Amino acid sequence: MNTQPTASHFIDGKYVEDTAGEVIEVIYPYTGKVIATLHAATPAIVDQALEAAKRAQKEWAGWTATERGRVLRRAAEIMRARNHDLSVLETYDTGKPYQETSVADATSGADALEYFGGLAASITGEYIPLGNDFVYTRREPLGVCVGIGAWNYPTQIACWKGAPALACGNAMVFKPSETTPLSALKVAEILFEAGAPAGVYNVIQGFGAVGAALITDPRVDKVSLTGSVPTGRKVYAAAAQGIRNVTMELGGKSPLVIFDDADLENAVSGAILGNFYSSGQVCSNGTRVFVQKGMKDAFLTRLTERLAGVKMGDPQDPGVNFGPMVSENQRDIVEGFIAKGVAEGATLVCGGKRPDMPGFFLEPTVFASVTDDMTIAREEIFGPVMSVFDFETEAEALARANDTIYGLAAGVFTADLTRAHRMAAGFAAGTCYINTYNDAPVEAPFGGSKLSGVGRENSKAAIEYYSQIKSVYVRMGDLEAPF
Ligand code: NAD
Repeated sequence: MNTQPTASHFIDGKYVEDTAGEVIEVIYPYTGKVIATLHAATPAIVDQALEAAKRAQKEWAGWTATERGRVLRRAAEIMRARNHDLSVLETYDTGKPYQETSVADATSGADALEYFGGLAASITGEYIPLGNDFVYTRREPLGVCVGIGAWNYPTQIACWKGAPALACGNAMVFKPSETTPLSALKVAEILFEAGAPAGVYNVIQGFGAVGAALITDPRVDKVSLTGSVPTGRKVYAAAAQGIRNVTMELGGKSPLVIFDDADLENAVSGAILGNFYSSGQVCSNGTRVFVQKGMKDAFLTRLTERLAGVKMGDPQDPGVNFGPMVSENQRDIVEGFIAKGVAEGATLVCGGKRPDMPGFFLEPTVFASVTDDMTIAREEIFGPVMSVFDFETEAEALARANDTIYGLAAGVFTADLTRAHRMAAGFAAGTCYINTYNDAPVEAPFGGSKLSGVGRENSKAAIEYYSQIKSVYVRMGDLEAPF
């Protein structure tokens, strides 16, 4: 596959290049080789993208919502038809195994385009009677939305932000992560091919500085970021200067609580999915696994047995189920956490090393005897590292689960129905799971509380964050005034 795009940016329906921009080398995490060379947006490119979006947004908002929805649904069909090629590209860009990308990336992007395409025409205002007079509300677009993406789900993030934004009649300028810049360009191409007017969905490349330049531009009405908490603080603060609308999808350190009465196989499956899918590079991962004392030994034994089923290797091989880390830098960061876990006295149950093979691989790693104050128990690692704790009572588990600055997700495995719902009600997190983990269907709201974020993506809830309400007062009779 030719992984070098036609040019770095997609603006106003065309590929655009400006070689004066800083070089971005795209590295395939399995070989460490450069597979594409792009350039970060210069101020001229930023200006061109925002100008195109500003102009196109007016035309797009003038279409009927049914027409806009049709474009999104057509784009979903194109994405599904090209799923194989898009998945191969996503695997080159991220290192995630094709076994995952072929079912979780372009497909979930297509789900978002289809869902919001279907919803577009139902986005309406309301009628509020006031005797003979009345008020009606119009749900209007915000204008130009900026999307800034992380590197773990590049296609999905480009669609999770783009689909609701466009459904509401906004235009978007999307900046992917500099680590994974390739697939968002395909999303832009597909939306244009599906009939979105030129300039409605633009992609420009760059490091943090390009994101920062976009946020502060007066032409921008909304900023949606998926990234880490430190970046979130900067982006939120910059957006506040212009009183911009924001959505912040940030990091997490989510708990997964397993009670003695849980089905062991399902609980182990949940812990595997919540820690090792995408080599652990998932924001909502349940990396703090609390196992009730009576189940702990059986859990660790079965988990270790099941981890023998990990197959590392060429991520393009459909038989491989565990890929390398996205970059050498990310592997170094995660190795640093593993070293701290060992130094602070956690028990390394398995993994912890680089396997003897090419690529930025790290073995799936499990620590037991972790205490709540250890670094690996408190900080987001964003790699294949699970920490296992034990607990005795429900109240203790809930208090310790919530003892974190983050609040993205939380899960519970138990056979006790009422306890499951009590735990879900008690978790301080935006997304909770009962006897499952990490499902993220477009139909359900997704987002975090506490430092994990502001706002919600997906579902009808996302409409609130990509539109604004205008109230229109109508008097049917004469108007009295005091003088
Ligand atoms: P990051 O914060 O380093 O970067 C995210 C994006 O922000 C990149 O595109 C980057 O170029 C841009 N950026 C950096 N500095 C900026 C600035 N000052 N102004 C504007 N933009 C700036 O995150 P990452 O390493 O790409 O991704 C990993 C993080 O993302 C983890 O913390 C993870 O938990 C989080 N994440 C959250 C979700 C979610 O939905 N909650 C999903 C995926 C990833």
